[in-house]
Amino acid sequence: MSPTPKDYAEIYKRLQAPISKVYDCGKKCSPFNGGQPVCCTTSSAVPIVEHSEYRLLKSRTDMWSPFKPKTASERAAVADLKGSACRAIACKGAGHCERDNRSLACRSFPFFPYFDPAGAFVGLATYWAFEGQCWVISNLTIVERPFVEEMIGGHELLFAKDEDWRATYIEQSASMRRVYSRKGKRFAVIGRDGGYFWVLPKSGGKSISAKKSELHELRAGFPNF
Ligand code: SF4
Ligand code: SF4
Repeated sequence: MSPTPKDYAEIYKRLQAPISKVYDCGKKCSPFNGGQPVCCTTSSAVPIVEHSEYRLLKSRTDMWSPFKPKTASERAAVADLKGSACRAIACKGAGHCERDNRSLACRSFPFFPYFDPAGAFVGLATYWAFEGQCWVISNLTIVERPFVEEMIGGHELLFAKDEDWRATYIEQSASMRRVYSRKGKRFAVIGRDGGYFWVLPKSGGKSISAKKSELHELRAGFPNF
């Protein structure tokens, strides 16, 4: 059963911490994206929400509306969602952002709950399609613990309300392992209990701990620190 609007309101309460209090990451990626944060422009990233989450948002603000696809691939993506529990939505843009009325997708980006091959929720991985566009993905050491803890707690509540979401992220995690195995590259995960680890390619999902200094290699993925 999908979480109710009330459930989403509770999840929002648990997911309020910024990724970093020191860095405004939107200022880091905007110069390379026409002056707008990458995750706040629908030409780059379209928030997908459950219908129940959308009902909550509509009861709180007029900032959101259904996403209107402009390209063939956007039309195909919206068509894929037809009949599902989810829909694509668009806000009025970063200049009109209401922090309390951000979607769960906004609050989480660029992270998703990472599950190891045994099905344990062990940390946070990043949406790899945004490497080179999202500054945070190249600078994981700036991510603060309150954000990590709230991501874990908020998603634990989501999974308690709807096990399908757990299955979605288990599949997403497996998909990331396949992609990086094909690339022959390791990827970094922020550990739920602290620290970081690398997931090794072609290893069945084996992980080893990562030093903070090693994560600097990720910076090569973004044009400017
Ligand atoms: S999360 Fe990534 S894409 Fe979004 S504003 Fe920050 S750096 Fe840019
Ligand atoms: S609601 Fe705010 S954080 Fe979410 S996409 Fe819009 S501008 Fe970005």
